[in-house]
Amino acid sequence: MIRFLLLRNVPRKAAEQQQPERVLLRFPRLYEIFKDIKVMVCYVAVLFFFISVSAFGAQELDCDREVPDDLYELKENHIPVEFHHEPFSMEIVDLGMLVLLMSVATWFSIKHKPSSWLSFLMLAGLLYFGFFRGGCICPVGATTNFCIGLAAPELIGRVVAILFLLPLLFAYFAGRVFCSSGCPLGALQHLLARKKSVQLPARINSVVRLLPIALLFATAWGALRGGLFIACKMDVYKWLFFTGYAWIDQLMLWVKGALVESRIIFVGDVVAWTVLGCVLVLGYFVPRPFCRLVCPYGVLLGTVSTLGLRNREIDPSACMNCKMCEKKCPVQAIHSDPTGKLVSVSDFHCIQCGRCDDVCRKSGLRG
Ligand code: SF4
Ligand code: SF4
Repeated sequence: MIRFLLLRNVPRKAAEQQQPERVLLRFPRLYEIFKDIKVMVCYVAVLFFFISVSAFGAQELDCDREVPDDLYELKENHIPVEFHHEPFSMEIVDLGMLVLLMSVATWFSIKHKPSSWLSFLMLAGLLYFGFFRGGCICPVGATTNFCIGLAAPELIGRVVAILFLLPLLFAYFAGRVFCSSGCPLGALQHLLARKKSVQLPARINSVVRLLPIALLFATAWGALRGGLFIACKMDVYKWLFFTGYAWIDQLMLWVKGALVESRIIFVGDVVAWTVLGCVLVLGYFVPRPFCRLVCPYGVLLGTVSTLGLRNREIDPSACMNCKMCEKKCPVQAIHSDPTGKLVSVSDFHCIQCGRCDDVCRKSGLRG
């Protein structure tokens, strides 16, 4: 009897001892967010982003309707007008392609499939969205368009809004799978980077990670105040995509037997291509420089992913602390504690590329 009572008391005592933890576990995601000051800054930044966008929109933007023309102007200046045909049916195909790529990427990521499988998806996304559709979907352009749309919904199409929101929806349920499947910018950087990448020193990394947040504000401000596509102008890869777009259109015209321009088209000037060349060389050594230093959409994806349902974690019972995953992670999303023990994966930064799964011999990554 005494033994029975003692045994009954053990779980209750244990439960009483664990009481403070249970309080924290009631709000595990909030605890995670406010535990890490950098993630908290991002979270607050995104909150301010949406509030300021709405506020600016309400006051300032009875928009002179030239806002979206900036993008058209940009394209028209650089792509011959006969290459501009974007019928509604193509936008539906875009949506279908995006959903397909992100769904397959979600499945690969949840099942922890080898990263080479995701590379095929990235290649498909790059060829379709990058070269065939001329850089559409462009995550930075989508951010600008959406800012305008919040203030003046009639200025953007419904499909543009869906294209912007869909990757965020996937981020909530599965993490940033858009970055490892549908984003042409991400795919280009990922596929051209060497496997043995250079990791930035922790201090520098934590400072440069704040740049996209600043750019998110600048993008919102620029879009709402002057119809400026600030982040778009920083997208150095667009010249490559525009050129691919123009070439594929020429090829299709040639196949149909229609008239083609005889000259070879390179969209963009010498300066643009020199900058592009430098960024590609940088990206060969330091993976995903645009994603990590510039992309404002990545801030939104990261925040939604942090608040979302799926979390990539390190299983402490399996991990032997070899740190191979930390070395392979292209966005430095895996963190150690002060004693050097690997403890966490940042859902904010993790792009679900699966490279950590490739190198872990103990299947130590879950989620
Ligand atoms: S961070 Fe931005 S540019 Fe990079 S893959 Fe994600 S959405 Fe694309
Ligand atoms: S933790 Fe790093 S290596 Fe692993 S899936 Fe995320 S981004 Fe890729």
